[in-house]
Amino acid sequence: MAKFFNLSDIDLQKISPNQLGQLLIEAKQAYYTTAQPIMSDHTYDTLENILRQKAPHHRLFSTIGNSNFKTGWPKKKHSMPMGSQNKATNYRDMIHYFELKKIPPQTTFVVQPKCDGISLELIYKQGQLDKAITRGDGRAGDLITQNVVKMKNCQTRLNQKFTGSIRCEIVVTYQDFQKIKQDYSNPRNAASGISQRLDSQLSQFCTLIAVDIYSSQLDFKTETDKITYLKQLKIPTVESHPANSFASIEKIYQNYLKKRSTHPFDIDGLVVKINNIQLQQKLGSLHQHPKHQIAYKFPPETKQTQILDIDWTVGPMGRITPVAKVEPVQISGAIINYISLANYQLVKQQQVNIGDIVQISRRGDVIPHLEKVVNKLKLGHVTIPQKCPSCHQSLIFEDKNSYCPNLNQCPAQILGSLRLFCQNLEIKGLSEQTIKKLYQQKLVKLPGDFYKLQISDIQNLDGLGKKSATNIINQIQAKRKLSLSQVFHASVIPNFSLARIKQITSAGYQTPSKIINIAIPQLQAIDGIQQTLATKIHQAIQLRRSFIQSILDQVQIKKTSRKKQSLKNLNFCITGQLDTPRSQDKKLIEAHGGKLLSAVSKNLSYLVSNSTTSNSAKFKKAQQLNIPIINQKQLINMINH
Ligand SMILES: [Zn+2]
Repeated sequence: MAKFFNLSDIDLQKISPNQLGQLLIEAKQAYYTTAQPIMSDHTYDTLENILRQKAPHHRLFSTIGNSNFKTGWPKKKHSMPMGSQNKATNYRDMIHYFELKKIPPQTTFVVQPKCDGISLELIYKQGQLDKAITRGDGRAGDLITQNVVKMKNCQTRLNQKFTGSIRCEIVVTYQDFQKIKQDYSNPRNAASGISQRLDSQLSQFCTLIAVDIYSSQLDFKTETDKITYLKQLKIPTVESHPANSFASIEKIYQNYLKKRSTHPFDIDGLVVKINNIQLQQKLGSLHQHPKHQIAYKFPPETKQTQILDIDWTVGPMGRITPVAKVEPVQISGAIINYISLANYQLVKQQQVNIGDIVQISRRGDVIPHLEKVVNKLKLGHVTIPQKCPSCHQSLIFEDKNSYCPNLNQCPAQILGSLRLFCQNLEIKGLSEQTIKKLYQQKLVKLPGDFYKLQISDIQNLDGLGKKSATNIINQIQAKRKLSLSQVFHASVIPNFSLARIKQITSAGYQTPSKIINIAIPQLQAIDGIQQTLATKIHQAIQLRRSFIQSILDQVQIKKTSRKKQSLKNLNFCITGQLDTPRSQDKKLIEAHGGKLLSAVSKNLSYLVSNSTTSNSAKFKKAQQLNIPIINQKQLINMINH
């Protein structure tokens, strides 16, 4: 058993900052990943304070080098990268996909339902479970073995001395979901949330379904061989159907589509794999997408229900969003109580009113949305509010949206922006309710106030214990060193997105005061910022001065390191409208070592598009060539990585 440290055990005169830092990292790791802490919270806090005095720049206090703690789980490399799948959403695209691969005419396939769960690699040594690693970024994921061993179908010891890796999906069945639905919004979120739980609770509600197997010691000739072997190991395995033509694949697809809602857990399509492994290897993979298989997705499930009420919510930057309360209805395992109606324009156009029967759908994880109004109880649309529901100021109507202009006094906007502050800085564990209480008790009025919170301020709110309170305070205190863009991003300034902030810093405005005092003509001199936008940004920065200042009073600005070559050897092409002008994107990509190409070819690494359904020739060609399509946010993330 690990040693338990008391304050008296440590020679504070002699211990070096590095040794102390290392000890604290171990303590943090033990706290997060095992049930056996190696010191008390009090000892930890005291030692951390000492370290902060001795070595304020120790990696314990920075986000870099702390990646292990982002989820609280240690990271582990996969034995073989876990790729993601190419997708088709209709019969024609599915056929087209394989035709482009020029596969021989007698090719056979294996068809399996696609479990809507969390991908996992189980590594076995001599028949003994060694590690369980989540997909993560495909190369490395979280080592969550201690949770996985408690899941249904998990076999820690196999009936043969198998050495290799078994790919699984973690799912929560509809039946199990009924028991935990108060904690999670849908089965997939439950699977994801439970797998990541540091206290290993609720793992027994997750089920493992094996979908693939690899071993350097076994020579599988076909996908069918793999399934047969998995069954010999007595591991519960995904249902698998042979198919020798596209028509037979389609028949299986239609069958599953019909019985989708009675399947024991959520499936969102089929996985179609070429059966012959030699042929698979010949096809290879591109950008982590194996070419021998495709996810043939189901259309989003739709249901009809009635609108019971319509509520107009105020976003953190004043945007008003109508939200409809509906007669609860189940879609893909989740009970839907609310749907977003986007904006007042949609309500007007579709003539949405209370009492209407509407068709709704859920796409992926996003909140359900309105497909169409099917039947009406009352004519016309619900009254569009002219005043802010939170502060009663007159709303401003612009394009499709309406806004509350009362940025700094509107309670809904203050709360929303405090929440976004935490979200943008990745401070986790502070729920909306907790933030609301802190605001009501006047403990937090401006974002900078979060840094002044003590453990005692939050430990009694919402029944949060000392442990979670300590964790939250530690997370806040870990954000004492921020980059310039982080400060402005965390200040939640309307029309000032992260992409735009970066555009301005790279135009030479590299101190807080330079940005705060930027004048309208200076903004207009920057690519793509016209007078109207320049005026808006300028006004917004002025309105948010107290917000920005409250953060600046508490943090140190990280020096911008020399530009990293994070896009080195990568080729990009852009289609459609991004948030910033093309010339600016070109500069940004090139500044980080990438190249911007004007056309899509097989040399392209990524196509950047903010639309997921573009009709452009570039978009279609990229799809045909299986070139990954990313949006601007993902591009920025790559740069910041
Ligand atoms: Zn308001």
